[in-house]
Amino acid sequence: MKFTDLYINGSWTKGASGERFDVINPATEEVLASVASADIADADAALDAAEAAMKGWAARTPRERSEVLRKAWELMTARRDEFAHYMTLENGKAGADAKGEATYAAEFFRWFAEEAVRADGMMTHAPASGARIMVQHKPAGLAVLVTPWNYPAAMGTRKIAPALAAGCGVVIKPASETPLTMLALMPLLEEAGVPPGLVNVLPSSKTGSLVDHMLHDPRVRVVSFTGSTGVGQKLLKSAANQVLKPAMELGGNAPVVVFEDADMDTAIEGTMLAKMRNLGEACTAANRIYVHESIADEFTKRLTERMSALKVGDGTDPSVDVGPLVNVDTRDKVAEFVADAVKKGAKIECGGTTPDGKGFYYPPTVLSNVPENAECVRDEIFGPVAAIQTFKDQEEVIARANDTEYGLVAYVFSEDFKRALQVCERLDYGMVGLNRGLVSDPAAPFGGMKQSGLGREGGHEGMLEFMETQYISASW
Ligand code: NAP
Repeated sequence: MKFTDLYINGSWTKGASGERFDVINPATEEVLASVASADIADADAALDAAEAAMKGWAARTPRERSEVLRKAWELMTARRDEFAHYMTLENGKAGADAKGEATYAAEFFRWFAEEAVRADGMMTHAPASGARIMVQHKPAGLAVLVTPWNYPAAMGTRKIAPALAAGCGVVIKPASETPLTMLALMPLLEEAGVPPGLVNVLPSSKTGSLVDHMLHDPRVRVVSFTGSTGVGQKLLKSAANQVLKPAMELGGNAPVVVFEDADMDTAIEGTMLAKMRNLGEACTAANRIYVHESIADEFTKRLTERMSALKVGDGTDPSVDVGPLVNVDTRDKVAEFVADAVKKGAKIECGGTTPDGKGFYYPPTVLSNVPENAECVRDEIFGPVAAIQTFKDQEEVIARANDTEYGLVAYVFSEDFKRALQVCERLDYGMVGLNRGLVSDPAAPFGGMKQSGLGREGGHEGMLEFMETQYISASW
């Protein structure tokens, strides 16, 4: 692999400590690369660089910033397969998932190129005094971005693109399992015209202390995190010290509700997508599948046929549908969820056995008759296991779907739109897929309620996460 050092101020450096850590290919369990590990001194250097670069960047016109982002979209789209390949190697995701992510990741540059010129303000008369109320948006300041391993490119570009559109400089800490894709993006951003220092990348094996140090630096104003709720809670505590602007994209526990009046083809297709996109390693993955009891047998049979037909293997083989999970812990946790559900009464319809041999593989698995007290009903499975439960009526299933501390995304399948929209409105989720298994879209506000997060990424809201609102009261 070509880019394995820290990227600070537009240059590659081995870092202050000279320490490195290994990145493993989950398909072979072999070392893919040895990557430089950032230390506190590197964090300071990256913040210095971002602060210096941000001054000139924020002073550029919105159109100039927009055109750099647009160029980044063009370049990344042209090199989609190269980025997809990096992601397959370090994350394990199969070719179609990897290409899909590379396209999705690039689209954030296009969308925020379009948004960069739309930081609209407003002016009005104060009702009582007659003074003018003028409202504008300003870049919020330096941003620290922390991203997870499940989408090595898109979770980064979903933050970098709006930050740059807003006029902010950033330091990004990619996940230790998958830092290579983000490092490989840096030469592309240079080519697109991003000035040195504006975007810095710090992989590290000392994540907690490194990020905490940056969040205590008085120059930092924004922390944007995607990852588990537990780590998000820690970062919110660190962010409280300087009252940073937080954007938190955290865990999920997505319910899928299939009503008796659903179109069966649509429901199966949507559930497959919601479950198996990124082999279930997604915060948006279908975690609890509630099917009306009158159609549960047919739904289970058809879903099992589709899941059993998927080909598992090394994602570099283009005929493979399902790659390995990212690491041994994730794979073992999935196996434990299955064992627990079966012990409590669930039935394995397909899959359910960890294969021997190299690679962190787990087969696509369907469980029926999953009991309410199974751990996979409470926690994110984060793997290719479809856990099916049945329900009798609408009120009951709404209550069960909402009975979680999470609130990221829910999916509803019904051909009765009046009913479907009523149900959508009563679900305590930041996003709902209605007769669709996919909600992610750069043009839409992605984010959750309750312990799934704070703030929104994408849409018109995404850039505002990196801006402050300023109001000027004026008389003339
Ligand atoms: P994670 O363990 O929370 O890690 C995410 C990032 O946080 C990584 O870069 C990690 O670095 C870093 N980190 C870990 N401990 C930290 C600490 N004490 N201080 C600062 N940073 C720390 O999550 P993950 O296992 O990578 O990702 C899976 C989780 O992300 C799931 O819960 C999933 O639902 C969630 N997710 C949410 C969204 C969303 O948009 N809502 C999208 C994707 C994923 P290291 O790798 O070095 O530990």
